[in-house]
Amino acid sequence: MNHAGEQGTLFVISAPSGAGKTSLVAEMLRTDSRLGVSVSHTTRPMRDGEQDGMNYHFVSREEFEAMIARGDFLEHADVFGNYYGTSQVWVRETLGKGQDVILEIDWQGAAQVRRLIPECVSIFIVPPSAGVLRERLVGRGTDAPDVVERRLSEAEEECRHAVEFDYLVVNDDFQVALQDLLAIARSHRLRMEAQQVRYGDLLARLSQRA
Ligand code: 5GP
Repeated sequence: MNHAGEQGTLFVISAPSGAGKTSLVAEMLRTDSRLGVSVSHTTRPMRDGEQDGMNYHFVSREEFEAMIARGDFLEHADVFGNYYGTSQVWVRETLGKGQDVILEIDWQGAAQVRRLIPECVSIFIVPPSAGVLRERLVGRGTDAPDVVERRLSEAEEECRHAVEFDYLVVNDDFQVALQDLLAIARSHRLRMEAQQVRYGDLLARLSQRA
């Protein structure tokens, strides 16, 4: 239940490609009904199995640039030669309703969001080893070898920014990583600052003599 005045928490989750971030976030959403995910806009082509409006809002470069000019984005970045951006209005409205929001974005976007919303909680997910990362990128089979190599070097660049995040989750065992992520969300909701908004009346009653 949301309490009056309760503001949702913004969780920013980044990871190198192949760390399992998308599957972990999908499972977080299934497990914890208080979490919602922002659907980004992108100019990259749709992959097989993706749906417009579900995975991303797929738009042209012209549309994306018009959105930048209008100030529609909370953050946006050029990732692997394509634009990606997070809708400002959706995120602010959803947080305003007391709903928690996850942004699945790259380190550049995470840095912008941290500056704009310093109270956000940022989480970086890594695979257990460089070898596993390579296996996962090759094993996915969706990209050509040169793309895999490029993604590996981009993954290294992404990982250089891990220390800027509040939390680090290692995705060796999927279930353990999932529980770690859920624990971060849950413990964040239990902070006194947040609980006081929810339970101010209870605390007042408990501290008065009947
Ligand atoms: P992919 O094209 O594989 O879905 O995503 C490529 C990268 O873009 C991932 O690191 C992903 O987190 C990032 N990304 C997705 N949406 C956004 C966004 O709205 N903003 C930023 N800055 N990065 C994003």
